[in-house]
Amino acid sequence: MSAQVIDGNRIRDEILQESKARVERLAASGRLPGLTVILVGDDPASHIYVRNKIKACEELGVRSERLAPPPTISTEELIAVVEDLNRRDEIDGILVQMPLPRQIDSKRVLMAISPEKDVDGLHPVSVGNLVTNRPGLRPCTPLGVIEILKRNRVPIAGSRAVVVGRSDLVGKPVAFLLLHEHATVTLCHSKTVDLPGVCRQADILVAAMGRPAMITTEYIKPGATVIDVGINRISDRAQAEAIFARRPERLAVFDKKGSLLVGDVHPVDVAECAGLYTPVPGGVGPLTIAMLMSNTIDAAERRSCEK
Ligand code: NDP
Repeated sequence: MSAQVIDGNRIRDEILQESKARVERLAASGRLPGLTVILVGDDPASHIYVRNKIKACEELGVRSERLAPPPTISTEELIAVVEDLNRRDEIDGILVQMPLPRQIDSKRVLMAISPEKDVDGLHPVSVGNLVTNRPGLRPCTPLGVIEILKRNRVPIAGSRAVVVGRSDLVGKPVAFLLLHEHATVTLCHSKTVDLPGVCRQADILVAAMGRPAMITTEYIKPGATVIDVGINRISDRAQAEAIFARRPERLAVFDKKGSLLVGDVHPVDVAECAGLYTPVPGGVGPLTIAMLMSNTIDAAERRSCEK
């Protein structure tokens, strides 16, 4: 049996197209959504993420602003920047790009964001709304996982879902979103006993550990839907060879580039064993920015209704 591959880029394009129509409706009522991204420091990956977020805003007609305070900024000064954005009516979404420099208390900065503008969904009020299934902004990557399942008509209600990884950013919110869609959810982590056995019970298996190609055949129930959130860059030839022994064409790409992106799910095993799965790259990854746009528009729509 050969599994069906989910095209994350196609789903992203669908969501962006729907988002564009929502922006146009807001614009027609005289209100463009606005997102501010705060970037502190010179982490190269963060610079790329922020550039992509601003580009997505520009393509949709969402007003965007990039603030780059000096890398020596203190926690208090950064909180003052956030509080100023909280007060500005034309700003609907505030995103503080992580990681922040060491001298800054990231938790306090995230706490300072007004929950109604918390488009990353990481403020404790947003987390509380998620846990209690009240309206509110949800974290972007977990929302992307749910969109992928729904848009591929994967039955969630009544299914057995296993999430591997319990981070606040991915694992926990994915588990709660699945629970609210009426899946029976098991949340696993590094201390879970018999992880392969637990995973093999899953109709829907979500991998979010940051461990390259860890989920192999013995973890996957034949025909299951497997969602791979992991993004790992491997640059060790022996590791690439072990993973892609049966895919010489991928190994050739590794040899040409010197590195490859792999998920937390073994790319060859999943293709042979799952019913439906997300590849890496091109699966969950593209959804994150699309859901950030959707959250920014949600925030703008809610705030315009409240007036
Ligand atoms: P974290 O490092 O914060 O959390 C990892 C989790 O995985 C922890 O709960 C940890 O358990 C668990 N874990 C680690 N090793 C094992 C193991 N051997 N067996 C079982 N559980 C294990 O990672 P994130 O949640 O931030 O990210 C997870 C992955 O998702 C990463 O590859 C990251 O790059 C990717 N990611 C992708 C995004 C996207 O846009 N597609 C966005 C965000 C993240 P414990 O709690 O016990 O330590």
